[in-house]
Amino acid sequence: MNDKPEKFIDENGLRLDGRQIDEIRPMTIKIGVLSRADGSCYLEWGNNKILAAVYGPRELHPRRLQKADSALIRYRYNMAAFSVEDRARPGPSRRSIEISKVSREAFEPVVMTHLYPSAVIDVFAEVLQADAGTRTAAINAASIALADAGIPMKGLVAACAVGKVDGKLVLDLNKPEDNYGEADLPIAITQDGEITLLQMDGDLTQEEFKEAIKLCKEGCYQILEMQKEALKTKFSDDADIDIPDD
Ligand code: ADP
Repeated sequence: MNDKPEKFIDENGLRLDGRQIDEIRPMTIKIGVLSRADGSCYLEWGNNKILAAVYGPRELHPRRLQKADSALIRYRYNMAAFSVEDRARPGPSRRSIEISKVSREAFEPVVMTHLYPSAVIDVFAEVLQADAGTRTAAINAASIALADAGIPMKGLVAACAVGKVDGKLVLDLNKPEDNYGEADLPIAITQDGEITLLQMDGDLTQEEFKEAIKLCKEGCYQILEMQKEALKTKFSDDADIDIPDD
């Protein structure tokens, strides 16, 4: 069934879900939701629901996989069977293997793996409900879970997608925009603005591409602020102290 909307942006410049073209979906963050994990985060972003868990650093088995001078990061992105309208087939797929790989690489520049030779840091990102942008939502949750686990990092990683509908660039695609849009460009950045993940589907001109990166980075910076705020609240509540702003 083709449920492609006739128009994605109305005469007032608003999208189908009422957002401005440069507005991200509402996000809520809960930290430390799993008592057995070293770090965890439950994150809702629009209708996406993600649970991230971090275990480690811990000794890597089998030992032949150990790296003598650093820790190995493993990242598993998984969609629960019930996370989409039609049941998602359980087990790894080409898509989930690809997302796991690029997401792991998004964290490698920031995680200080050299501090933990021979160890492994396991990151699990479970998509409980999917509604476009799950890889970026999972990275945002994983970033917080890594911090919650006390893993030394040079900074957080934040991710967001930008796309194109009705010939216009829009930030943080919703499901119809993702399904029927002209382009989809997810990125992840460090707090210094270094891009650690960049993928692209569809077509953009060079000018649009530059503009898209700029717009998307602005979205990522907003997310970084939310991530930091959530972590500050969690740790100041835990320690019962006031943590001053930067
Ligand atoms: P992302 O979730 O990172 O945007 P995609 O662009 O591959 O990744 O997927 C877009 C959306 O399509 C997902 O968020 C999800 O809502 C839906 N989707 C992905 N895989 C499946 C699947 N196997 N079955 C049904 N829907 C899916």
